[in-house]
Amino acid sequence: MTASLSADEQRVLDNLQRVEERLRTACMAAGRRRDEVTLMAVTKTVPPELINTVLDAGVTCIGENRVQEYLSKCDVLHLEGVERHLIGHLQTNKVRRIVGEVDMIQSVDSVHLAKAISDAAKMTKRGVIDVLVEVNIGGEESKSGVSPESLTELLDKIAAFDGIRVRGLMTIPPIFHTEFEKRAIFYKMHKLFIDIQGKKVDNGTMELLSMGMSSDFAEAVLEGSTLVRVGSAIFGERQYK
Ligand SMILES: *Cc1c(COP(=O)(O)O)cnc(C)c1O
Repeated sequence: MTASLSADEQRVLDNLQRVEERLRTACMAAGRRRDEVTLMAVTKTVPPELINTVLDAGVTCIGENRVQEYLSKCDVLHLEGVERHLIGHLQTNKVRRIVGEVDMIQSVDSVHLAKAISDAAKMTKRGVIDVLVEVNIGGEESKSGVSPESLTELLDKIAAFDGIRVRGLMTIPPIFHTEFEKRAIFYKMHKLFIDIQGKKVDNGTMELLSMGMSSDFAEAVLEGSTLVRVGSAIFGERQYK
């Protein structure tokens, strides 16, 4: 069986194993169990064959950024028992196309979008979809996400939407330069998460903290991440067409 793997497949499996080892080490250093952290494979720009390689190897969660791209690939993916998340910025006019096709939308950052997702979810079989609220923890102008200061207000406003279940928070931090900066911003995000957990969210559970990517997932785990989103460390540098 091994003999039939292409060079690309073998490289991706080797990468996956290295990521898994680093993740285990980080969990151990943090005094956390490995099963407290979900490893998501971020599959944007990755051809379906290579996505299937990691799914067949046991990865149980994938994330895609764009609605169109995901829909064009999902039919051939080995998705049995796999969680599918949309992690990219979502436009309201695309909501109806994606809501029935994924298990979670990680990028809710406005009342308007939350309402559109809730309304669309109510028309699907399940009637409800899990979401995370995206927080712009670095306060960067160019980034989507709600500011830490407006988070409580947003959560209060979307609490009445019964087509969504708010499961936690997600963040894409600024590009870091030092280890210290990484840890500090993840620490800040975790603190915000704990504070928000203390307040009761009506239609949610606040148990997931999605933070950490290829360059910083170990630091994110040390600071309390429960879901790391790893793309290039598994699949290699992305080839944008
Ligand atoms: C692309 C992407 C990732 C993965 O980035 P890598 O640095 O390749 O691991 C994670 N989260 C989001 C929201 C992304 O768009």
